[in-house]
Amino acid sequence: MIFTVNSPADFHVHLRQGSISTLVTPHVRKGGFNLAYVMPNLTPPVTTTDQALEYKAQLEKIDPSVTYLMTLYLSPTLTPEEIRKAKEAGIVGVKSYPRGVTTNSDSGIESYEAYYPVFEAMQEVDMVLNLHGEIPSNAEHNTHILNAEPKFLPHLYALHAAFPKLRIVLEHATTRAAVEAVKACGPTVACTITAHHLALTVDDWAGQSFNFCKPVAKYPDDRAALREVIKEGHPRFFLGSDSAPHPMHKKSTSTPTSGCAAGVYTSPILLPLVATLLESFGAIGNLNDFVSNNGRAFYNQVVSEEIGSVQLRRVSGVAIAESYGSDPESVVPFWAGKTLDWEIVS
Ligand SMILES: [Zn+2]
Repeated sequence: MIFTVNSPADFHVHLRQGSISTLVTPHVRKGGFNLAYVMPNLTPPVTTTDQALEYKAQLEKIDPSVTYLMTLYLSPTLTPEEIRKAKEAGIVGVKSYPRGVTTNSDSGIESYEAYYPVFEAMQEVDMVLNLHGEIPSNAEHNTHILNAEPKFLPHLYALHAAFPKLRIVLEHATTRAAVEAVKACGPTVACTITAHHLALTVDDWAGQSFNFCKPVAKYPDDRAALREVIKEGHPRFFLGSDSAPHPMHKKSTSTPTSGCAAGVYTSPILLPLVATLLESFGAIGNLNDFVSNNGRAFYNQVVSEEIGSVQLRRVSGVAIAESYGSDPESVVPFWAGKTLDWEIVS
């Protein structure tokens, strides 16, 4: 059985910098994708147009066959002028991380109001706001990694109400509450879902560092909500892998004084993995919508049979590699040692 996917696009991926970038950037294509929406959380973070263009040039040098859509990191240095410059230069979005947001000292939660002039400019020039939808843990408010996402959702509603035309993506949703919140918003609000959150629940990462990522996978009912929204074919939900490689030694040798890095690495197996997962819950018929049509429509990116269409073949149990690259920087993919039911026809 052969399945054709037109122009697969990954709308959230970490391509890193330096030698690990050289290793993982070609894995976008290896995993079946020809468009990568690139996250800006480098060291230092990508906060200016010039930095983003330089980063894009580096990625194009590593693999010119992929379209890289670039983003800026939301920080207090970002100005409305820089937004206009970024738009002119073809930069598509601005990513907000919890720590990049100023804190209201009285309530102890994030306030986006300091950024309203920036969001106003983004709305005007039509740039996308990408939200890491979690608030920082805070013992006083009983905020922790399991409820950080639901507690963020009032901020999503407030931003959408203040900027109804601003296109917003709630990234890597992990809860039923987040799915319902995005559905309740208007057509300018969309949501990415990762492959691994379609597979994992709390039990899978508690005690297993290779399944540990942020946001953490939640309860079985939350995972069911992610699966259902794909199965029902909701047009504002699409794939953003949040593929986030870390060298193996940062994932597996935590010590009493340093924990393991958060991040699951799916790029090199992404399309076969998504096909395997969607088939497992009866949604293989929505594969094209989930990995291409929905996201490309939201981001105004053309879908075409000519641009990197990929054929998948149904197989019985192809083993996933144990690792990629060589020590000390080898990376371990998600589900290493397990098998997939689909493979890319080369
Ligand atoms: Zn991410």
